Amino acid sequence: MQCPYCNKEMELGYIQCRDGVTWTPKEQLVAALSFLGKGSVSLANGAADHSRTVYAYKCSACKKVIIDYSAD
Ligand SMILES: [Zn+2]
Repeated sequence: MQCPYCNKEMELGYIQCRDGVTWTPKEQLVAALSFLGKGSVSLANGAADHSRTVYAYKCSACKKVIIDYSAD
């Protein structure tokens, strides 16, 4: 994948979180992660058969990480 900011090739890796990797519209208390609020989105994208590991592309030049959360 090419970085949309600088067009250099991005490095594929992983982001992992014990309780699953999710995007939420509001900050969640860590203790309340199992009650993720309305609007939360699981970022699981096929890196593993659970939501705790997701693929992520990194651009070292721009210091950006991109997660495509489509499961395909
Ligand atoms: Zn870049």
